[in-house]
Amino acid sequence: MFETNNSFRVGRYRLDAIPEFEGARMPPAAMFTKASPAHLDRLLERVPSDSYDRDRKVLYTSVHSWLVRDDNRLVMLIDTCFGNLKNRMPSHPMFHMQSNDWLAKLAALGVEPQDVTHVINTHLHLDHVGWNTRLVDGAWTPTFPRARHIMPRLEAELALSGGLMRHEANERSIADNVRPVVDASLADFVDPYATIAADLKLIPCYGHSQGMLLVEISGEPGAIVGGDPLHHPLQMLDPDVNTGFCEQPEQAASSRRSFLGRCADEGLIIAPTHFFAPRFSQVKRIEGGFDLTRLSQAAILA
Ligand SMILES: [Zn+2]
Repeated sequence: MFETNNSFRVGRYRLDAIPEFEGARMPPAAMFTKASPAHLDRLLERVPSDSYDRDRKVLYTSVHSWLVRDDNRLVMLIDTCFGNLKNRMPSHPMFHMQSNDWLAKLAALGVEPQDVTHVINTHLHLDHVGWNTRLVDGAWTPTFPRARHIMPRLEAELALSGGLMRHEANERSIADNVRPVVDASLADFVDPYATIAADLKLIPCYGHSQGMLLVEISGEPGAIVGGDPLHHPLQMLDPDVNTGFCEQPEQAASSRRSFLGRCADEGLIIAPTHFFAPRFSQVKRIEGGFDLTRLSQAAILA
């Protein structure tokens, strides 16, 4: 049913989603912890039918990476999910010590770990850095031994100095997902607007985390890929609705509103990490907020 929901082209790049998890995940109030249930109910009446299970009252969400390839040798992963065999209790039981087939999905697209040239961790939350490492002989070992791992400097320096906001599972993730690639000299800390490859740069979107950078790819239309500018289409209707994971709620909402405004005005495709269906779309302005516009079938790769 969602076969054409995974791949699209932007300029010189082909993008493929590699899901680690997708499907019905949590009740709306568990994700949007600060919004009133009545307000959420009103918004949920208007979201796409494939983003919310109305009978069971659970959100459809996803945790996926974007694989970005050109016609040459660039093989980039944007965000790397939770990873396998990580201790993520008590906050993330669904992803605790999991053993999933994400690497097999990558291989099915013709990519082995040693082929990956770039990993972009848009921010250092535990669901965006997980496959940076895997357990080999009892040690957390870089999964992509030839890749540059690109991280926001602001956030990486905070993380490595213990200055990130306190969150137990996230601190373990810094130790088992981030520190090993830094110690292996595979990490590059970059500033906003850094150009990573042709037609591909990182732009700031602060608030969900302290230093999140999103991937902007030029094209006709262009796209802004990865990260957590928003988690569910519901937030397009009211960009002030934050998740419980947004660290600086006011800034997160303001960044979300300007992100959506820019995407609407410039026709940009959005392709964030946690949208289940559609995984990517364009944006239009409506009264009080925004809504999504699905891409025409011609723009989508089978
Ligand atoms: Zn996330």
